[in-house]
Amino acid sequence: IIFRDYISGFPKESDMKPTIDTIELKVPEGSNSVLLKNLYLSCDPYMRGRMASDSYIPAFTPGKPIFGHAVSEVLDSGNPNFKKGDYVWGLVGWEQYSLIENPHPMALTKIDYTDVPLSYYTGILGMPGLTAYVGFNELASPKKGESVYVSAASGAVGQLVGQFAKLMGCYVVGSAGSKEKVDLLKNKVGYDDAFNYKKEHDLAATLKRYFPKGINIYFENVGGKMLEAVLPNMALHGRIAVCGMISQYNLEQPDGVHNLFLLVAKRVRMEGFLISDHQHLYPKFLEMMKQLFMEGKLVYVEDMVEGLESAPAALVGLFSGRNIGKQKSTTLGA
Ligand code: NDP
Repeated sequence: IIFRDYISGFPKESDMKPTIDTIELKVPEGSNSVLLKNLYLSCDPYMRGRMASDSYIPAFTPGKPIFGHAVSEVLDSGNPNFKKGDYVWGLVGWEQYSLIENPHPMALTKIDYTDVPLSYYTGILGMPGLTAYVGFNELASPKKGESVYVSAASGAVGQLVGQFAKLMGCYVVGSAGSKEKVDLLKNKVGYDDAFNYKKEHDLAATLKRYFPKGINIYFENVGGKMLEAVLPNMALHGRIAVCGMISQYNLEQPDGVHNLFLLVAKRVRMEGFLISDHQHLYPKFLEMMKQLFMEGKLVYVEDMVEGLESAPAALVGLFSGRNIGKQKSTTLGA
């Protein structure tokens, strides 16, 4: 899938061009390279940032494949860390096969724990899972009995934040953009409560109903009007883990948030983070997750489309809430 050119505004399927280009790929004699068959490609909101030339993150190159996180099988390897038949997760092109030359030690991770579906390494056991863990467990300083609010709660990151909050003994409410997602949060993911933010005309009043004593931790995925509604509802000394602001990514002119002084008045700590700064926590995270899986304490909802040609629409769909759970694509058709 070739990236056409830098964009502004909402991404469109036509910004990505399915292309059939048959080339011979092999591991050069004596090289450190790894030849991969890509199995599952991850569709993530941050990829929108890579479609702009002036972003916080390096851009895709026009005329070259889109790239992102994926789960792959090693077909051949000149690299001592990987052998034929291994499964790995890391960054690859949106293509059926990839030749990774001299992979950086952090770029590909060998998958040793296979008691769960392999696709989980694009979600709950991959980048979004680590994001939920770092943002909630490491940065938001949660304590038993606290009240937690999560926006975009049914997505790749949010559904896990809710589960971590419950495991910590917190009261947790999530918001999402449809009845189906709200039902999922309440009946499957284990949120104490949930609401459809699209049906609420006064979000601040809605939050007041769910959190009469205030929100101790807000896990921010959305930004804009949502953040503005949260601020008056924060409890004294609350924490806001700023994971993302998806409502802002496609706007030419970002929404102004007019009540930021409430951070001072309520002594709130608001902290943004990028998961790329916290990769060293992955082994600790994985150990914790293995234990939780063994105890049957985790659920995860995935939304899979079939075939590389379906991936662009799935990526674009993140910005209208088309996905239910973690969005990913296989590389081969059904
Ligand atoms: P999701 O799986 O949650 O998919 C995105 C969801 O966002 C959509 O399904 C939709 O759900 C919601 N959404 C889209 N547009 C809007 C809007 N305008 N207003 C409100 N909600 C909207 O994505 P992820 O879980 O992968 O990512 C969640 C957040 O975490 C994003 O902001 C992302 O950028 C961020 N992130 C940050 C990282 C970091 O390092 N800081 C790493 C990974 C993710 P709905 O139907 O509920 O509206």
